[in-house]
Amino acid sequence: MAKKQFKAESKRLLDLMINSIYTHKEIFLRELISNASDAVDKLAYKALTDDKVGLNRSEFRILLTADKENRTLTVSDNGIGMTKEELEQNLGTIARSGSFQFKQEMDKAEAGKDVDIIGQFGVGFYSAFMVADTVTVRSRAYGAEEAWEWKSDGADGYTVEPCDKAGVGSEVILHIKADTEEEDYGQYLEQYRIEGLVKKYSDYVHTPIRMEVTKSRQKEKPADAPEDYKPEYESYTEMETLNSMVPLWQRPKSEVTREEYNQFYKEKFGDWEDPLAVIHIAAEGQIEYKALLFIPAHAPFDYYSKDYEKGLQLYSSGVLIMDKCADVVPDHFSFVKGIVDSPDLPLNISRETLQHTRALHIMESSVEKKVKAELLKLQKEDKEKYLTFWKGFSRQLKYGTVNQYGAHKDVLQDLLLFPSSAGDELTTLAQYKERMKEDQASIFYLCAESLDMARKLPQAERVLDKGYEILYFIDEVDEFVAQTLVKYGEKPFKDAGAADALPESDEEKEANEKKAEANKPVLDFVKEVLGDKVSAVRISKVLKSAPVCMTAEGGVSLEMEKYFSRMEAGGGAIKAERVLELNADSAVYGALAQAVAQEPEKAKKYAELLYDQALIIAGLPVEDTARYTELVCSLMN
Ligand code: ADP
Repeated sequence: MAKKQFKAESKRLLDLMINSIYTHKEIFLRELISNASDAVDKLAYKALTDDKVGLNRSEFRILLTADKENRTLTVSDNGIGMTKEELEQNLGTIARSGSFQFKQEMDKAEAGKDVDIIGQFGVGFYSAFMVADTVTVRSRAYGAEEAWEWKSDGADGYTVEPCDKAGVGSEVILHIKADTEEEDYGQYLEQYRIEGLVKKYSDYVHTPIRMEVTKSRQKEKPADAPEDYKPEYESYTEMETLNSMVPLWQRPKSEVTREEYNQFYKEKFGDWEDPLAVIHIAAEGQIEYKALLFIPAHAPFDYYSKDYEKGLQLYSSGVLIMDKCADVVPDHFSFVKGIVDSPDLPLNISRETLQHTRALHIMESSVEKKVKAELLKLQKEDKEKYLTFWKGFSRQLKYGTVNQYGAHKDVLQDLLLFPSSAGDELTTLAQYKERMKEDQASIFYLCAESLDMARKLPQAERVLDKGYEILYFIDEVDEFVAQTLVKYGEKPFKDAGAADALPESDEEKEANEKKAEANKPVLDFVKEVLGDKVSAVRISKVLKSAPVCMTAEGGVSLEMEKYFSRMEAGGGAIKAERVLELNADSAVYGALAQAVAQEPEKAKKYAELLYDQALIIAGLPVEDTARYTELVCSLMN
């Protein structure tokens, strides 16, 4: 019988398991039980619509058998089983993301050094090789006539051949390693140890985990027992269910510890980090359901890609009916992981009919409410945690605000954070509003590529001078967020650099008009020099000390123009209408005006130079850099 080789990445994982010096080898049992339980779930689900399965939910079980003489521990199930192809496919490659992620972490941590991650999330079937030198899997798939035996002693590969096996399901037989000086492998054949491991790791598995256990009992006292009769004991064996089978989410909240929640989350969802928040719901209103929701501490590696699939596990009275039900979580909270379980859900439902189930819509809106409330609570009570959350998922919340024409903005607006001129901390819109001055009509913002640039933009000066706070929009989506929200708490959003950022009194208006009129020759001159590069040249109402800045008018801002030009599709076709603003009160302007009147050649250079400076401050590329240096040099000479 020729041996087949493991796929390369599996081999590496396998080596790690075989040579593991890890102290928590015991988790292998949890992994095998979890596989068996999944297999049972799959067949139990089939049984709902397929009479041929011939088993009731109550007849499914996982059986553990320890044989000290032969040094084997067997985990058998009457679940869905595996075909020959599935044996090869599933056990010859790293099948799931958990194992894959684990391998990636290992690659980072470098083998042997930080093996602690093994215990933190599922590593799957291969963990058996931490305690066994040979692993045999005998399996018969549901609907298949024949059974197959997969066997491997680890490193050398595996064999698959036909075998005899009565019922449908799988049997995983571990030949436990010989004890060594450092390691007592024999413990995994001891009844008390196995019982303990099941209680510790698999108590809430909802399929009974059964084992023949040896117990002792007092013998009946004989009728003619002498006076000094000492009770005698005898041992007997009995099939016992080791796990209490109450799923975590079915237990009362008050009886579950945070540690249990965390452990459950990490195992179930293959994360290595504890969740930031846990939401445990027991609802009894319009529909009855239990839910256990988790907010992860970081975005999964594929979160912002097309591959990421949102959804919660859907159970109906403890029977898994769908692994990722997308309809119970809104898109903007797609990061939520967890489980919902309701007896009000029809058992045999398809994806199509599910969508129209009223119960799902009720659950979705309640999930949305609870998650929002939990996030707001974090925001108030544990800022640091909230910032961790924000780091991973801010983009999701911002895009969620903008998407679908702002249909969900009311849900999301209070979760948003922005940097601001008020300090180094991020602020919520509510906090901003709280700090607003009495005479302040708008919520001011300023767009820039970075916080550093934003803080230095000259056109913010007047607004800041009035003591008004400015939100800094440094994420490209921020401006769209403001456009979508339009207002927050009745206060409109306003670009702090816009000409009409501050209200003008009648006198100011008149004075400004006069100023513009008086400076018309200079403005016309500059516009003439710059031509189509700008749509207008104006005397600025926003600048205070800086001589020049660039703003935009119309619907497209400078930041939007940058955004569109970064996107291939836009191809730079969408342009802002640039306005060059000059500060008539600045010394530089005086020099410009004088040159316009007396030395037009020099004035042309000034105009070009001021334009370039405005570009630089706005973070826009200088179109002709050679010309720019030439100008600076010629004016210095
Ligand atoms: P995971 O269970 O995390 O997907 P494993 O490496 O533990 O990864 O298992 C790989 C695959 O092998 C499983 O996804 C499942 O399809 C299959 N498998 C493992 N154990 C069993 C079993 N007892 N019955 C049926 N299929 C199984």
